[in-house]
Amino acid sequence: MKIKLISIGKELLLGETIDTNSVFISQQLSLYGIEVNKKIVLDDNYEAIKQAMNYEFVDADTLIITGGLGPTDDDVTKEAVCDFFESKLVLCDDVLQSISSYFQRRGKKMVSSNLKQAYFPEDCTIMHNPNGTAPGFIIEKDNRTAIVLPGPPHEMKPMFFSYVEPYITKRIGKKVFTTNINTYGISESELEYRLRPLVKQNEKLSLATYADFGEIRVRLSICDDKNDDVNELLSRYTIKARQFIGDKFVYGVDCDNMQSALVKLLIEKNMKIATAESCTGGLLSKCITDVSGASQVFECGICSYSNRIKEKILGVSPETLQKYGAVSEQSAREMSQGVLKLSDADIAVSVTGLAGPGGGTEEKPVGLVFIGVATRKKTIVKQCNFNMLNNKSRESIRRHSQLESMKILIDVINEQK
Ligand code: AMP
Ligand code: MG
Repeated sequence: MKIKLISIGKELLLGETIDTNSVFISQQLSLYGIEVNKKIVLDDNYEAIKQAMNYEFVDADTLIITGGLGPTDDDVTKEAVCDFFESKLVLCDDVLQSISSYFQRRGKKMVSSNLKQAYFPEDCTIMHNPNGTAPGFIIEKDNRTAIVLPGPPHEMKPMFFSYVEPYITKRIGKKVFTTNINTYGISESELEYRLRPLVKQNEKLSLATYADFGEIRVRLSICDDKNDDVNELLSRYTIKARQFIGDKFVYGVDCDNMQSALVKLLIEKNMKIATAESCTGGLLSKCITDVSGASQVFECGICSYSNRIKEKILGVSPETLQKYGAVSEQSAREMSQGVLKLSDADIAVSVTGLAGPGGGTEEKPVGLVFIGVATRKKTIVKQCNFNMLNNKSRESIRRHSQLESMKILIDVINEQK
């Protein structure tokens, strides 16, 4: 295969965004033994894209293009590629449906410009995008292939692994073996730093990290043309990688997400859980019960937003509420113990904090959250300061509270037996 990469976006030319996509794709391709022949960066310009395709296809059979698939008028990549292949854009009902459900899930309204994202060249393969609204596509004609991916790296990378990697390795007759290590509470750059020595020592091993709202997946892979011993080699690398990362950041291997890891662990340990939530308003219960099989482990969730209910239902003492306030270590402790007693579960969690944007004080700023975890043997409370986050929105603070709670639960359950 002779491959060239094209990165599209004005922000790349202006130097506002660093073109990390082509670096990632080059690294992945080298794992399959493919050398990239050329990389170029282009403006969001219809004619420039078509012209470049004309020129670059002279001595290449495949172009991998990223960027310019957004809903706005300046995103023209899809239209230009479609025009180059002399194809026609047609409305894809299933894409339209998945875009509208993407908005529904986030409680946002779909605007008419998003409709544009449901049109695709009539003879292409669509690559679905669970992490955004812009699907990608692969189009082939006369021994020329264009693989077109969205610009945002957190959308591009998972799409690359789900579609592009299988497509390319099939074409060159190789196989990729992978394991994902699920982490939380550590940054992407720190993960890469910690794992660098492991990759340096083992040239067959390739590593990629990709983030999904606080959770980061570390993908270890080996590309080979035969199956012998590769899986065993990969499990040895996985054990080593976990040591390099540090157990406190790892919550699982090959898990879908944190909630499914938690539910799976509760089922394995035959434990039941209950929640008492204030600032997360039921989000934790919702995420646990999103997992199929949750009915085996989820006992109840109390959304105790008011002090009256914290007192009346959970048994938090009026003195505690008065002396320390609802957002305090003491209240979190009593909330978790209260719901444990009420539900007769084996483990209980409480969350109380300030999600903002209003209501913060110097002593208790927005982002201050206390998470309590109680079992029959002990209760622990962790103080979190989510005001340190880059994104301090109400939604972000609530999501981080939910993730952090789940991580603490997983750690406590693993410690127990
Ligand atoms: P799109 O709407 O598909 O053009 O993607 C726009 C978003 O993706 C912007 O936030 C860009 O900064 C980011 N982006 C686009 N291309 C790249 C690239 N080559 N490397 C890193 N980020 C990119
Ligand atoms: Mg763009």
